[in-house]
Amino acid sequence: MRIYSDLADAVGKTPLIRLKKASEITGCEILGKAEFLNPGQSVKDRAALYIIRDAVAKGHLSPGGTIVEGTAGNTGIGLALVGASMGFRTVIVIPETQSQEKKDMIRLAGAELVQVPAAPYKNPNNYVRYSGRLAAKLAETEPNGAIWANQFDNVANRQAHVETTAPEIWEQTGGKVDGFICATGTGGTLAGVATALGPKGVKMGLADPYGSAIYNHFARGELKAEGSSITEGIGNGRITKNLEGFTPDMAYNIPDAEALPIIFDLLAEEGLCMGGSTGINVAGATRMAKEMGPGHTIVTVLCDYGQRYQSKLFNPDFLRAKSLPVPDWLDRAPRALP
Ligand code: PMP
Repeated sequence: MRIYSDLADAVGKTPLIRLKKASEITGCEILGKAEFLNPGQSVKDRAALYIIRDAVAKGHLSPGGTIVEGTAGNTGIGLALVGASMGFRTVIVIPETQSQEKKDMIRLAGAELVQVPAAPYKNPNNYVRYSGRLAAKLAETEPNGAIWANQFDNVANRQAHVETTAPEIWEQTGGKVDGFICATGTGGTLAGVATALGPKGVKMGLADPYGSAIYNHFARGELKAEGSSITEGIGNGRITKNLEGFTPDMAYNIPDAEALPIIFDLLAEEGLCMGGSTGINVAGATRMAKEMGPGHTIVTVLCDYGQRYQSKLFNPDFLRAKSLPVPDWLDRAPRALP
């Protein structure tokens, strides 16, 4: 183990963890890329680092400059932490529906936080579009300038996964990997890994939550969303620049009722405390494994640490209010100890 030069240097290089239950059920090796072990506890640290480095290399971001971004939270946490380690300020725009824990962490990481009502992309006050306008204004007024990270359409995001996530998976499995599957927010992870591992013969799978239009786009050629999901940070209503040119080999539409029991089991039986998108991913990997048949190795993404959803995913009252299953152990009163 070498000494890392700074926090940015500690982004990535995450382990692959064998998922016991998913592997047993399918007769495949289902491996999770442990992105929750990044410094900001999510896969988005990789995109944050590449977006910042790209802006610096192009001369758009200079010392003391401000990074502005619209985010479901994880990219904001990544930009704030990596930004702090490199001497930049951050202003983060988030839909108010996202978990309190993520908002608290963004503020704790030193960012200024702007909350906006949740609105679809076509609404000019959607968090992404709002952040773009705010960045343009701050570029005029901040003493050291400001940039818009623009993770959805900035392909430095996808490049992070072409250059780091994908080669790590290839090296860790010794090239013995048959499939890769995950959900898309910006699409950077899936399209980036596909760019690097697709040509090596790895099958690419899309796991899409309800309320997202991406599954319908690939399965039926219609960019149309149905239903809803309590997962955060995934699902989209449009084809971002990061997703352009990407087509999955297999695609699945995953309901929360399938993904949430997986999240609860991962925690109770495997010690893995994961957010909702990981449930969609592991459900997708399980479906893909069943379709491919036993004996295959399939990699998916353990996107972020579950504690940042304690007030929602792991809150019996919240789950009941949404008519979602509540595991017994989550609802049990603590026993009286002798
Ligand atoms: N899971 C979570 C929890 C996320 O926050 C995100 C990104 N918003 C993703 C998955 C999807 O990653 P990507 O943007 O690379 O598609």
